[in-house]
Parts: sequence; structure tokens; C-alpha cells
Amino acid sequence: MNPVSLAASFKDQYHHTPMIVRAPGRINLIGEHTDYNNGFVMPAAIDKHFLFAVAANNTNQFNIQAVDLHETISFSLDELKAGHHWSNYLMGVIDGMARRGKKIEGVDVLFTSNIPAGAGLSSSAALCSGFGFALNELFRYNLSRLELALIAQESEHRFVGAQVGIMDMYASLFSRTGSVMLLDCRSYTHEYLPFQFGNFELLLVDTKVKHSLASSAYNNRRQACEEGVKIIKQNRPEVQSLRDVDETVLQIFKPSMTEEVFRRCNYVVKEIDRTRQAAHHLKKNDLTAVGKLMYETHRGLSSEYEVSCPESDWVVTTARETGVTGARQMGGGFGGCVLCLLSISVKNIFIEKVKAKYFAQFEKEPDFYSIELSEGVALV
Ligand code: ADP
Ligand code: MG
Repeated sequence: MNPVSLAASFKDQYHHTPMIVRAPGRINLIGEHTDYNNGFVMPAAIDKHFLFAVAANNTNQFNIQAVDLHETISFSLDELKAGHHWSNYLMGVIDGMARRGKKIEGVDVLFTSNIPAGAGLSSSAALCSGFGFALNELFRYNLSRLELALIAQESEHRFVGAQVGIMDMYASLFSRTGSVMLLDCRSYTHEYLPFQFGNFELLLVDTKVKHSLASSAYNNRRQACEEGVKIIKQNRPEVQSLRDVDETVLQIFKPSMTEEVFRRCNYVVKEIDRTRQAAHHLKKNDLTAVGKLMYETHRGLSSEYEVSCPESDWVVTTARETGVTGARQMGGGFGGCVLCLLSISVKNIFIEKVKAKYFAQFEKEPDFYSIELSEGVALV
């Protein structure tokens, strides 16, 4: 559905003229599981997005329709509650605004999205960021984009129970066309890095594996990182997180750690460093070097952090065998999408090869999405 037809449906249904907001999903080029270790990530918004049609309705009711799901929900401010439904994400955003002292007024909303949900492209962050942005514009709340990102994050924490980092909503709100950003997850500041495609493309291979193991494994990996920091801290009190540790320091404390804690920490320390290196290579427009780092990241995710799965490993191995420049599983783990950096000449050969063999191996049809880097949340 495009903005014009969404606005037309809105008018049919609610008989007034809406404001239209676009809110994109995101990729993360490199920097996986570094966010909660105060490290760096390298996200960018993509050309897949939510569209919201929103107008004030001069009542205290929220009337919201998820067009793709044919579901409509109505509620008022005193009916906000936690849960796992799409409406809970939006309730969390309203709650965040109320807790910041904003005067909450009712709206009519229609929204739709072409971001595949649950594939690791952060549809949930785009949902929260776009809705927050729309309310902020409509009622002139004067919240900054950073506050909107924090409200979106709080919504996932408090209303959906997903302990997500800041990256997804930050990327949805702050991205610029044609760039990735080096986001410092300690200071919440970012630097834009132009991504000059030349003969290259970014392609996502959706493995169609839903990350069911993800939340328990995620908590367990976080604990391993915290355990590592605790051990180092006993002798180096200035160390707050793995961001403050390099490989040399980690080696010193290796004997005090279990083999598993060391391996997890070692992955994170190297991944923070790889992300810094990738920024350096991007500044020189050396995408081949960035691709090599992506393969190293995948090896780390698979054998050190142990959050990959046979399907992602197979796609990455096939990518390497086919001359793809870089490939890695993207997102928390155990499936979702594999992000590939590849030259245009290799793209079709690679897609055909995956199509021909993936189903026989895994009994699932993969999807392929070519990615453009787009601007963050905006009025249309
Ligand atoms: P991800 O953020 O990786 O896409 P999540 O599980 O975090 O996956 O978020 C997916 C949730 O976002 C869905 O369960 C649903 O609540 C909401 N969502 C995503 N797309 C839509 C949509 N088109 N319409 C309504 N809700 C959606
Ligand atoms: Mg999400």
C-alpha cells in the first residue's frame, strides 16, 4: 500500500485528512551482540517501512487499525496494558509520553508495513518509532529523536517484555539515505559513514528460521559477558564493560575464567574491534575489506558466541564458495536473515544456487531482499 492509497482508505473510514509518517526497518552491517557491551554497531535504515496515517480525533480514544492483519483496536489512556500483541507496543509508546508529562489526546490511526515481521529487520522498533514520531508531530510535544528512541525502547521493555538495546529504534530514527552509521552504544552518539555501492549490492537472504531459542540464549550470553567483566573488575576497577577491554587484557584474565566465559568475551572484544575497523575501511571505500570482516564476524557468531544455526551457516558457506564479498547472520541469533555484500555480477548466480539447494537441505523456501539504504523516520 502506498501513502496515497493509505490516506484514501483513512478518509473513507474516518472522514478526515491524516498526517502520513514513514518508519523504516534496519540492517546492521557489523557489530553483533556489541550493543549491550557498550560497544559499537553499524546500522542503517532500509527501503522497507511502516506507513502510518494518523489524525487527532478530539476524544480520549485511540482507534487503531493494523491494515495488514485486518484488526482494529480501540482503547483509552486508562486501558494501557502489557502483552504480546501489536497494540501493546503502541500502548507502551503512549505510556512513555504520558510519563514525560505530555498531554495525551486520542487519535485515529491506520497503519501498514512491508517489513517482514520477526526476520530481524526490526519491524517492532519501526512500529514504535513511527508511532511516537507521529504523535510528537501531531501534538507538538517537542521530543527529540533521541527521546523518541528511548520511549520506543522503553515500550519494548515495559510493555512487551523484550529487553532490546537502543540500536534498532536509533537506526530507524536517525538514519540517512546512502549511509550507515557508526553508533556508539555507550554515549548514544553516531557518525555517518557514506556507503558507496559502486558495483556492490546488499542482499538479505531470509532463512525463514524463526529464532525461538533467541531469548533464553540472549540472556545467557549477556550473563557470560557480565561474568567476564566482574572477573576483570576485581583487579581493574575502571573496567565497566567489555568495551573497556582489549584482547591483551582479556588474555591476562583468561586463567580466572571458565572456558565458555572466555570464549564469549573474546568474541565480543574482537567484534567491537572489527566494527571499528569496518568504519575505517568504509572511509576508504574498501568494501572488499568490509566483506572479509563480515565473514570473520560470522565465524565468531557460529563457533565462539554459538548463536548461529545450520541454515545460516549453510548460506554463509555457499556465499563464500560463490564469490560473495561478505556474508554473516544478522540479528540476535538462530536464524533470521543473512546479510550479504556482493558484486552485481555474482548476485544472480548466488541467488540461483541458494534457491536450487536450500529447500532440498532444509525444507524451507528462502526469501531474498535487495536492500537500499534509506532515511530515518519522516513525514511523507
Ligand atoms: P522484528 O522486530 O525482528 O521484526 P519482533 O518479534 O521484535 O520482530 O516484532 C514483531 C512484532 O511487531 C509482531 O509480532 C507484531 O506485534 C508487530 N508487527 C510487525 N509487523 C506488523 C504489521 N504489519 N502489523 C501489525 N503488527 C506488526
Ligand atoms: Mg523487534
